[in-house]
Amino acid sequence: MAKFEGYKDIYVFVEQRNGEIANVGYELISEARKLVASIPQMGFQVVGVLLGHNVTDKANDVIAHGADKVIVADHELLEGYSTQFYADTLTQIIETYKPDSFLTGATVLGRDLAPRVAARLNAGLTADATKIEIDQEKVADGEALLLVTRPTFGGNLFGTIVCPDTRPQMATIRPNVFSMDPVDTTRTGEVVAFTPDFKDTDAKVVVKEVIAKVVEGIDITKCDILVGAGRGAEDCLDMVEAVAEELGGAMCASRAVVDDGFASKDIQVGQTGKTVRPSLYIACGISGACQHVAGMEKSDMIIAINRDPQAEIFSIANMGFIGDVKEILPLLKEEIIAAKK
Ligand code: FAD
Repeated sequence: MAKFEGYKDIYVFVEQRNGEIANVGYELISEARKLVASIPQMGFQVVGVLLGHNVTDKANDVIAHGADKVIVADHELLEGYSTQFYADTLTQIIETYKPDSFLTGATVLGRDLAPRVAARLNAGLTADATKIEIDQEKVADGEALLLVTRPTFGGNLFGTIVCPDTRPQMATIRPNVFSMDPVDTTRTGEVVAFTPDFKDTDAKVVVKEVIAKVVEGIDITKCDILVGAGRGAEDCLDMVEAVAEELGGAMCASRAVVDDGFASKDIQVGQTGKTVRPSLYIACGISGACQHVAGMEKSDMIIAINRDPQAEIFSIANMGFIGDVKEILPLLKEEIIAAKK
């Protein structure tokens, strides 16, 4: 008998707010598709889990994004996010369907929900993962053991964590770490309604009012072109902004620039900032510390400008300019303007 008899499939928590599904759920479904394709002998499916109120009609979107099946818990107590009711429901879903692994976005909601559910189930959870693989050597024994990698020791090392003794194997993954597959509206799948059984319907915490955060300026995670300012460009941020503007993109910054008070934390890229994956990232006067690289290395094209030929940023750049940003940026801007004519 297999060690984890009855446990199967990769489940993904599909986070929604006010009926709008967060991209991270679709990113995780796309990655889960790749994982199940790497173990065809296990016959696993990708299952989306959608919680909320009046959200059942969203299940088809989840299927179009790659899920084979969607479990929907549509209940008035799940209207807004409640740790208590969401954790109750998710725990019951996992106990009922026995997923082999369960992936959640490392969003504010996911970071609150996933550990609570893992603790209730006595399951292992790897938080803030940046890479997920399956140990192919274990597949012959009928096991789909996840190898989950995350930054550790302040981002100086990457650790790969396994949870071999319990199921489901749980992980939270930051938004923008994985790419999202194109939508396929011709896909078909199964939608299963799940009715949670709340033992206690008295909310321990009552949310009186939700005040949406006012995002000042541009959301860099949604930009297709980013020009990153590092400490080496602190005295010419106007030039960085001008190049970003010419390219129809936005400026972002390293933590050094934020800590030095030249940029807002909202535009910080990296391990303690945002993860971005634009089609073009121009790093200006950025050394390429691993904590910065962790937030932008998945960009399609990386161009680095740095006066130090040994700077780490060149090791991940597709193209580099060795020189002073103050000399190179104006030339770059001129070239862009000329190319647009
Ligand atoms: P520096 O390291 O000071 O590099 C400046 C670069 O500019 C150098 O390579 C230099 O050669 C070049 N330069 C200088 N002048 C010029 C010029 N005129 N023309 C061209 N090049 C020039 N960092 C982040 O960015 N994001 C994070 O989220 C983040 N999280 C962290 C979390 C932890 C736990 C820790 C410990 C650190 C974190 N850091 C983060 C900090 C990170 O380790 C680096 O200190 C930081 O990224 C350095 O920023 P920088 O490259 O802009 O500055």
